[in-house]
Amino acid sequence: MFNHIVVGSGFAGSVIAERIANVLNQKVLIIEKRNHIGGNCYDYRDENNIIVHKYGPHLFHTDYKEVFDYLSNFTDWHIYHHKVLAFVDGKKVPLPFNLNSIYEVFPQELAKRLEVRLIEKYGYGTKIPILELLKEEDQDLKFLANYVYEKIYKNYTMKQWGLKPEEISPQVTARVPIYVSRDNRYFTDRYQVIPKDGYTKIFERMLNHPNIKIMLNTDFKEVISIDFERKKIYFLGQEFKGKLIFTGMIDELFNFKYGILPYRSLDFKFEAIEQEYYQEAPVINYPNDYEFTRITEFKHIHPVKSEKTTILKEYPKAYSSNTDIPCYPLLTKESEELYYRYKEEAEKFKNLILVGRLAEYRYYDMDDVVKRALEVFEERIR
Ligand code: UDP
Repeated sequence: MFNHIVVGSGFAGSVIAERIANVLNQKVLIIEKRNHIGGNCYDYRDENNIIVHKYGPHLFHTDYKEVFDYLSNFTDWHIYHHKVLAFVDGKKVPLPFNLNSIYEVFPQELAKRLEVRLIEKYGYGTKIPILELLKEEDQDLKFLANYVYEKIYKNYTMKQWGLKPEEISPQVTARVPIYVSRDNRYFTDRYQVIPKDGYTKIFERMLNHPNIKIMLNTDFKEVISIDFERKKIYFLGQEFKGKLIFTGMIDELFNFKYGILPYRSLDFKFEAIEQEYYQEAPVINYPNDYEFTRITEFKHIHPVKSEKTTILKEYPKAYSSNTDIPCYPLLTKESEELYYRYKEEAEKFKNLILVGRLAEYRYYDMDDVVKRALEVFEERIR
């Protein structure tokens, strides 16, 4: 019947299903818990005719030409350079914290000195993770590091992860380094684009194929079971000998046998505002104030003429129940060790493949996950 079953229809699952259907011309079944495809990339037009991202802002950026070319089969784009401001001591300053931010928050003379020091020490155009800059011994740079740590990273990270920057994997805060530059863009990748009709349309076009069947509203546990002893997978009570491509939470797949892997979740609160624009940038971060981490105004991302505007506030929390949305793996030494126990267990199954942010417990961006799914298809499925 089906040669392949894919659990989850985010980028990991959808790219693999699309490749199986088109390249191998084989049948594939996708099992999706939610009532829609696209995972956390899902977007839709709201009552104000504005495209909003249901699970928080998704901004596509990549240096991988092959990923950009592959996705271009399913969408047209518009060029879009993402901008983020951080609200700090009553001022809104560019993020990543850069030379312009320095001039916004410090007196001219001090700012000039910091600029010169940074360029002397690191060079113009370099990026420095905050945890690296904190090791500085130069007095001025140490002062800068402490300031940026306190005002930008510490409280935002506490809100977002429930932990301090030094308690989580350094790769997390390194995603937003201090940038020795006057470039105010959030990303510096070669391709920075937004799908013209939104992300959901990409998934619809990928999955609209006679070889692909999709079961929505179906928790994988309703149709799949696993014999841990004999390392066998069952679909609707019958042994499944094809490949199972699993993109959900790996601890759940293994019935939490080694313990619970921490994932981070968010509550998303949308508000319709009776004015043309709400804020001056697509995203404004609030590291130190309020319970939410940031406010996104989608009109800046998908421009449309409308008297009204829609904003989104994100409230972080632990992933703790089946109705929460798993958004991020919470990367610490302990959680990564626990993940490796699950990974080892998974490798004992002949026909089980794990892909994606949740199943591989990696902080993949959209382009990383598409790249990974294309590689996994070539190496393990084709
Ligand atoms: N971060 C921070 N302050 C900010 C922005 C980011 O401390 O104003 C840290 C925080 O730990 C955050 C991480 O950098 O979780 C990664 O930020 P990014 O914007 O990449 O997060 P995402 O958009 O993936 O939620």
